[in-house]
Amino acid sequence: MDDSSGLKPKELEFTLAAVSQFSSSSLSSSSSSSSSVIARFSANSGVAELRFHRDSEFIDGFNVDIGTSQLFKLGPVQSLCVSEISGAGKEKSYSRAVTIQFRNEDESRDFHSAFEQWQKDVIQGIHLPNGAIAASKSKFDYKIEPSSAKMYFHYYGQLLHQQNMLQDYVRTGTYYAAVIENRVDFTGRVVVDVGAGSGILSLFAAQAGAKHVYAVEASEMAEYARKLIAGNPALAQRITVIKGKVEEVELAEKADILISEPMGTLLVNERMLESYIIARDRFLVPNAKMFPSIGRIHMAPFSDEYLFVEIANKALFWQQQNYYGVDLTPLYGSAFQGYFSQPVVDAFDPRLLVSPPLCHVIDFNEIKEEDLFEIDIPLKFIASVGTRVHGLACWFDVLFNGSAVQRWLTTAPGAPTTHWYQIQCVLSQPIYVMAGQEITGRLHMIAHNAQSYTMYLSLSAKMWGPGAVQGGILQTASGKLDLKEPYYRMSQPQSYTMAQDQQPQQLLQAQAIPIHTEDLDEAELLQQPSENTGPQLQ
Ligand code: SAH
Repeated sequence: MDDSSGLKPKELEFTLAAVSQFSSSSLSSSSSSSSSVIARFSANSGVAELRFHRDSEFIDGFNVDIGTSQLFKLGPVQSLCVSEISGAGKEKSYSRAVTIQFRNEDESRDFHSAFEQWQKDVIQGIHLPNGAIAASKSKFDYKIEPSSAKMYFHYYGQLLHQQNMLQDYVRTGTYYAAVIENRVDFTGRVVVDVGAGSGILSLFAAQAGAKHVYAVEASEMAEYARKLIAGNPALAQRITVIKGKVEEVELAEKADILISEPMGTLLVNERMLESYIIARDRFLVPNAKMFPSIGRIHMAPFSDEYLFVEIANKALFWQQQNYYGVDLTPLYGSAFQGYFSQPVVDAFDPRLLVSPPLCHVIDFNEIKEEDLFEIDIPLKFIASVGTRVHGLACWFDVLFNGSAVQRWLTTAPGAPTTHWYQIQCVLSQPIYVMAGQEITGRLHMIAHNAQSYTMYLSLSAKMWGPGAVQGGILQTASGKLDLKEPYYRMSQPQSYTMAQDQQPQQLLQAQAIPIHTEDLDEAELLQQPSENTGPQLQ
């Protein structure tokens, strides 16, 4: 990357009239009129910092991380620089402010533009003017907690987890077919594999005739990818493995195609889609292709009395009043909420769905990285059956929009199971619906710095039955879930296996998700003991 900051080192030192620290309890001046204070922009310790010196002595406790600070003008020659300091507790962070007094307005203006320029450079991760190489943090580092990133890349650095993905034949087989059937898109083209892992997709792209493939992988798996690729010499000379994050590495040339498998549970878990989008903006020529190009999150309310009872019962442990002489009940409520905050990962029978699904489309060609920070989906369904609704079931699919063949990779219930399974967000309060009744709600997902999302789900239906005024009161159930903490339930006996045998072949094509709940009669739709299905509806 070029050094385009235009800042020369001598411009990065400013003589100030004074500097003082603003604290919540006092305003402690750390300057005196007799000795001048120097503000110095530096990138020595791997972080772009603003440091203050008096008489060549570093003023301790005044240094400012430029990337996470804001500079405000208090007056023509006075400014306030506010930085965030992470506290010890998970949720706690505090601000610290330094008041800067300039000698004149010109110097104040120059200082502000230098600060802005440095901040821009930090975010772009460009070479800093003092010659340090991207000493600043990258976009990834700003968003993601280092401990989360460490665990994440440690996980993907292990062959057993790559094997798990490779052995998902629905997944890998669909990628293979999508690439090989669309040779026309790969032949003679430059490809970037975003998060190459074992390098499998790079090898597929090379098989499909790619001119060159850049396999970018941040974890230690990059070394294994090198080994695997070297062991396939017919393809190896057209693949370069680059160890690093797509947010940080530089490529020798622009690419014509991006290939990646950035999907996590519910499509967006792991927040790797953002890296895919960043790679699009950094590496591709205009009008390039993305494999995949579109992702869709599908959602439908479900009814599953067994699952509901199973989750609720998990908290029963905390109902004990004499556990080795200790009353556990004070924690019952918290444990109950805790279990319902876990999205359930499992393959379920599509007959549990209470209405046809709706979908939220994410167009990878168009979407901006920031659009994924918050995903807000209004929900509206028509119940196909009268029942108790226990929550929202979700799955996703992605499209390979090849020039020759379009192919969908689906994780829908009823389709062959993938290692993503499906997820069910169970609400602690079921709602009752009649056939034909409208169910409304909202799924609001907010990205967090541990590479996942906090999910706020609410579902509502109008009250019915004796005593409820027609068109009157709403019954609403809502819950807060953490996509990072799922409950893996797959070890449970799966009704799905039986359902799979009964499903026609057409389920393999997911373009139109083939769950026609209206085709099934109600008894079939809900295979539950009648005593569990709530009030009789007809
Ligand atoms: N493409 C492989 C691996 C997919 S798993 C396959 O299809 O089998 C996703 C991979 O992306 C992991 O190996 C992970 O380490 C890597 N990854 C995730 N975020 C990344 C980033 N920002 N930069 C580079 N690699 C990343």
